[in-house]
Amino acid sequence: MAKSAPIRESVTSINEDGSRNFLRPADVAGKFTLWRRLVALPMILIYVLLPWIPINGYPAVFFDLANRRFHLFGLTFAAEDMWIAFFVITGLGFTLFFITALFGRLWCGWACPQTVFLEHVYRRVERWLEGDALKQRKLDKMPWNRPEKVLRRGTKYVIFLLLSLLIANIFLSYFISIPELWGYMLDGPFEHFESFLFVATSTAVLFFNFGWFREQLCIFICPYGRLQSALIDDESMVIGYDEKRGEPRGPVSKDNIGDCINCQRCVSVCPTGIDIRQGLQIECIGCANCIDACDAIMDKVGRPRGLIRYDSLNGLAGKTRRIVRPRLFAYLALLAIGAAVMLYAATHLKPANMTLIRMPGSPYYVDTEAVRNQYLVRLINKRNQPMSFDLSLSNAPEGMQLVGYDEPLVLQPMQEVQQPFIVQQPRHAYTGEARLTVTAHGEPGDFTLTREVPFLGPDPRLIAPSPQTATED
Ligand code: SF4
Ligand code: SF4
Repeated sequence: MAKSAPIRESVTSINEDGSRNFLRPADVAGKFTLWRRLVALPMILIYVLLPWIPINGYPAVFFDLANRRFHLFGLTFAAEDMWIAFFVITGLGFTLFFITALFGRLWCGWACPQTVFLEHVYRRVERWLEGDALKQRKLDKMPWNRPEKVLRRGTKYVIFLLLSLLIANIFLSYFISIPELWGYMLDGPFEHFESFLFVATSTAVLFFNFGWFREQLCIFICPYGRLQSALIDDESMVIGYDEKRGEPRGPVSKDNIGDCINCQRCVSVCPTGIDIRQGLQIECIGCANCIDACDAIMDKVGRPRGLIRYDSLNGLAGKTRRIVRPRLFAYLALLAIGAAVMLYAATHLKPANMTLIRMPGSPYYVDTEAVRNQYLVRLINKRNQPMSFDLSLSNAPEGMQLVGYDEPLVLQPMQEVQQPFIVQQPRHAYTGEARLTVTAHGEPGDFTLTREVPFLGPDPRLIAPSPQTATED
């Protein structure tokens, strides 16, 4: 009777002497491989095309760092709107928690950029140039003075470098836009040295990661991989091996043994080099390669598919499956809060922003006529058309006036202005400090922005007219 594989105590990609065991996973075909490709292709296209698609005059996703704006599918967020980012990030985090609790590492295997680019771009180029895993290993052993190695591996690295350069440039275009990026290229690297340095560094990191580091990033660096053990329970859907059905494993010719023929095909296709038959492991990125590999073997030996499959640990152990669990409701509630805030923010986002601060210097001025305070208003037009703003005071105390604005302020598209203004109150009407509401009425769109500021002044008794002066008046 064949024995189970011994439990592994080290990382598959590191040899006993500490050197790197460079994995060469075998190619695989099957329904999950096909579906993963069909998911990956649009994702790559979306990444490449988003900076090219204009909406309201800006790329669909554009982090305009120079002007501190963020354009997202026609909505414009200014630096002041960045509180929304907190809900976006936490909302995405809880979405990931929810998906992980329900479907395990679906994200890692199907949608993570590391997997998408490595499996569907870089490894495809590698297999095209170097052949299957066997030929790649042969090439590994070949000395560098052999023309075949120089030609095949050299061409591969040149293509990897170009791909990394392309991905890095597209990434930069999310921050400076495609026309600007093109302008930078025409100007030459030393005209925009910071951007050049960013692209050069990103290219080097991508080349190193996809050319050499690969699964090490998932195993040693990615925090999500570590988090999964806390997020997954016995009811989460994972990729697992049906031990009850598969063991004892052995050759197909033997009687009274399990369905696993111990062909090692599931191990040879694994991009992290693990043996799924040893149970759920932190290195498993949920790519489903082992499912397709094992299903093909089961087809060949005339046994039912699904020896390795998507299932919960309880399902694999033959226990009752329970998809709905309390923790899912907790994640869902937190996710719903984040989504509701995002929806509210997106639908109530004003087309302009206003901030109001006091001018530096003396907090107030008193002369023979009035008590005065000076402020600075900062207005940002987030629309792609000119807008005018009327500033006024709402619910102002008696006699209080906003001066310095006879004409509405006109702002060009995406323009930001800072203007000082004065609020004054006649001495005879002054009764002490107050809180003011400053309103900016914007057109077109008939919307208002309001901000509260304090109006400061001396103790009113200090500036009250003397009884004699009052009689003379
Ligand atoms: S591919 Fe299937 S049959 Fe072959 S070793 Fe893996 S689990 Fe066993
Ligand atoms: S064990 Fe299977 S699902 Fe997990 S990484 Fe390896 S091949 Fe992919």
